[in-house]
Amino acid sequence: MDYPGNLYVVCAASGTGKSSLVKAWRQADALLALSISHTTRAPRGQERNGREYHFVSAQTFDQLLAAGAFVEWAHVHGQRYGTSHLALAEALRNGADLVLEIDYQGALQIKQQFPHAALIFVLPPSWEELRTRLQRRAEDSAEVIELRLRNAVEEVAQVDRFDFVIINDSFERALSDLQSIAHAQRLRVATQRRRRADTFSALQIA
Ligand code: 5GP
Repeated sequence: MDYPGNLYVVCAASGTGKSSLVKAWRQADALLALSISHTTRAPRGQERNGREYHFVSAQTFDQLLAAGAFVEWAHVHGQRYGTSHLALAEALRNGADLVLEIDYQGALQIKQQFPHAALIFVLPPSWEELRTRLQRRAEDSAEVIELRLRNAVEEVAQVDRFDFVIINDSFERALSDLQSIAHAQRLRVATQRRRRADTFSALQIA
């Protein structure tokens, strides 16, 4: 599938602060759309269907999967999550750049299909800090926190397969790092050819 917009895939172990970073990034960047994933997990706290996720049953997920609805999907923390073709197509229709907040398995599937996607991994400053953040968030039980920490070790081991790494020890710095990556991606020749087509044609560049 062709995707002319820039794709940014942001991955991190849960508790790293990825969602807050992406939220602030989107608020500061009107060109950026966020894809809403499907998940079989139940909503947490203030989450609403269709806003954070499309919350679906395992059966509905199976049906979507069988119908070829997903660009990528993965098992994460015992639940299933997937990005639909529709979510990408909606952003495409609006001419937006798209940010996918997904796990590393999904990120690698996206890279295979969209080699120009920028794969960004956000690391916590330390394991102690990650544990503290998960506990402070108070959204998960002690067992779920331990599961997420165990999974995190496996997740961060994937970092070398990514294009960029950001260490979230300072929120402001991490946000500015994300913005720098987006800025550089938008200066890629293929992107500039599309966005500045008039200039390219005035310069008579074939
Ligand atoms: P949470 O349950 O904390 O919202 O998300 C758990 C993990 O699932 C996070 O690492 C999140 O990035 C990942 N995730 C969310 N949506 C998707 C998706 O559509 N595909 C994949 N592969 N992972 C996802």
